[in-house]
Amino acid sequence: MMNLEQQLNELTGKMYGKTIAACTDAQLYNSVLQLTKDQMEAKPVITGKKKVYYISMEFLIGKLLSNNLINLGIYEELNQILTKNGKSLAVIEEAEPEPSLGNGGLGRLAACFLDSIATLGLPGDGIGLNYHFGLFKQVFKECLQKAEKNEWIEENSWLTDTGTRFEVAFGDRKVTSVLYDIDVIGYENGCNKLHLFDVESVDESLVKSGIDFDKTEIEKNLTLFLYPDDSDEAGNLLRIYQEYFMVSNGAQLIIRELKEKGCDLYHMDEYVAIQINDTHPTMVIPELIRILTWDEGFTMEDAVNVVSKTCAYTNHTILAEALEKWPLAYIEKVVPQLVPIIKELSARVAKKYTDEKVQIIDKEKRVHMAHIDIHYGYSVNGVAAIHTEILKESELNCFYKIYPEKFNNKTNGITFRRWLLSCNRELAAFLTDTIGDGYKKNADELEKLLEKIDDAAVLDAIEEIKKQKKEALAAYIQEKEGITLDTNSIFDIQVKRLHEYKRQQMNALYIIHKYLEIKAGKKPVRPMTFIFGAKAAPAYVIAQDIIHLLLVMSEIINNDPEVSPYMKLVMVENYNVSYAEKLIPACDVSEQISLASKEASGTGNMKFMLNGAVTLGTSDGANVEIHDLVGDDNIYIFGEDSDTVIEHYAKADYVSKDYYENSPVIKEAVDFIVSKKALAVGHKENLERLYKELLNKDWFMTLLDLEDYIAVKDKMFADYEDRNKWKKMMLVNIAKAGFFSSDRTIAEYNRDIWHLN
Ligand SMILES: *Cc1c(COP(=O)(O)O)cnc(C)c1O
Repeated sequence: MMNLEQQLNELTGKMYGKTIAACTDAQLYNSVLQLTKDQMEAKPVITGKKKVYYISMEFLIGKLLSNNLINLGIYEELNQILTKNGKSLAVIEEAEPEPSLGNGGLGRLAACFLDSIATLGLPGDGIGLNYHFGLFKQVFKECLQKAEKNEWIEENSWLTDTGTRFEVAFGDRKVTSVLYDIDVIGYENGCNKLHLFDVESVDESLVKSGIDFDKTEIEKNLTLFLYPDDSDEAGNLLRIYQEYFMVSNGAQLIIRELKEKGCDLYHMDEYVAIQINDTHPTMVIPELIRILTWDEGFTMEDAVNVVSKTCAYTNHTILAEALEKWPLAYIEKVVPQLVPIIKELSARVAKKYTDEKVQIIDKEKRVHMAHIDIHYGYSVNGVAAIHTEILKESELNCFYKIYPEKFNNKTNGITFRRWLLSCNRELAAFLTDTIGDGYKKNADELEKLLEKIDDAAVLDAIEEIKKQKKEALAAYIQEKEGITLDTNSIFDIQVKRLHEYKRQQMNALYIIHKYLEIKAGKKPVRPMTFIFGAKAAPAYVIAQDIIHLLLVMSEIINNDPEVSPYMKLVMVENYNVSYAEKLIPACDVSEQISLASKEASGTGNMKFMLNGAVTLGTSDGANVEIHDLVGDDNIYIFGEDSDTVIEHYAKADYVSKDYYENSPVIKEAVDFIVSKKALAVGHKENLERLYKELLNKDWFMTLLDLEDYIAVKDKMFADYEDRNKWKKMMLVNIAKAGFFSSDRTIAEYNRDIWHLN
């Protein structure tokens, strides 16, 4: 047996004719990639009678090298080998391109789940698509977001061509798929797979500039982008092509694996659970029914029965825009073979229930995808306690009344391997020294840290690690964004997709308010650093305008010598998992300020807490559970609660202009958006549109909570000066984060929904 160093030397020799020391970092990255792939392949595949397939349009997996090395248990050894040879593993990790297979929290959740499923030794694979250009790469020009294709697939990558090819038939054409697999290794455990389907005839040259391409050339464009613009019919059809392509391939793969296992398909529910991640994979239900009735001789009754015992649905949002409703005519165009099945499923519902709200096909002949999932799946889960309650009591109440037994909550989680062990090695090492390393496998053991709450050395060490991470982030931001940060300032961070419900605009108004205070001579005790990162959907106009405002404010603030010693504003370009891994460990204040009831769970909030940031948040999503865990003294909660917000919507009685007119502070901040100063830097069209939106509509009630937000945030910044108090808050947040390990979440999915082994 060769040792690790000999193996790596042999690989660099074979691949580049060089020793480790003589390789460039890029060559070394490729060699280490191959070494890691070989090691993973040598691990046992996790097996068992029953397996879960997690089908998802997105898997925001992030770079894989560091995580795979940690899970293989060879990170430290390799680190030492490279150091010995004059190389740096950290530098080599930078050479890896980040796979662009997801959008935000939902896709990141899917990735955390795959890690935890394998870590718990459960048989479970992901099924998704291999987008060549992913979501999009964000660049800023003239304070505006521009979208470019995000190329990430290189000659050497984690993808392995399995040789599997399936035929997928659409109404007007047939395509051949190619199956690529990525190994998913559990922490000190075996391997599962992430199956990513591609279309054989994909043609990258279809994209000429930006992210525009011919939406009708399906066999060439099917796997180019995640969430292509769907503001027109061609875009809508393309989404349906993509979704059917994913589930047709998934269904063929699942049936093939079942047959290989010798499973009697009439009992397939004993062998397989299919978790439908949001509504995008819903067509797997009619597709399986179609295969069983057409190819396997099932009666409709038998097929519906067994599929309904196999599929389970996760709801991620109550935002109407995200609950897919496809015109039946579109489905007829793309997959006519599913239409008779969907009509039959709809007719069965109509026969039993008269309530319009629970029908699958509505009066306008639109197909409600979530309704298929709820009627023909055996489990419906929300992703945080408050979210599941809202589903049961309001959004899906009519379904809850029919199927109370199907509803259950699974509060989201994050994998501690990536969001602690990998991104904050300093904190992980300190925790191991202080409380042992049991927490790595049993996250609840983090609570042992509470015993140290009065130990000054422990508190100082936690503060010191935060300082180090702030310095590392500041160096990175200096290099990437060209902005100099003061690491003695308080780091206040809001990173997440850009959406009005997440209320980045409220944070922007706070910043304007502080800017105006400084201009008026009221200097803060300590400088403040505000950091944002967010991509906005290219067709979402107001979201683009909010990015514009942030970039404009950043120019104004950072370039004003009277203000910049006291505050800085950075909007980082192309926020993604890799950036998150640098930002989160460096954060003091975690901004989780969505309008109550709108953020189903959030997972960013959990990552920040685990890394010792203190949450400034509304009573929304998992913030509520964080609050319950850390208590009133270790979190800053503000704003109206979800009941109040839901009532405002029901009564339609929120009028933003009233808040504007009744508060000089609000008025002054909002007016600044269209002030001479702002217009001198920014574009009139964008700033005026945003201003009018806030005054005349403000659908997500920014102004409702603004005054309270300012008051609580000011109090929080003042408390930061009580260093002892703050350090204790950091400690409590870390200690209580164990509940949010995705290992706990997955154990619950298995116990209540999947029943594997
Ligand atoms: C965790 C994560 C998210 C989700 O953040 P929320 O604050 O929960 O919306 C989005 N993007 C990336 C890159 C993440 O790592």
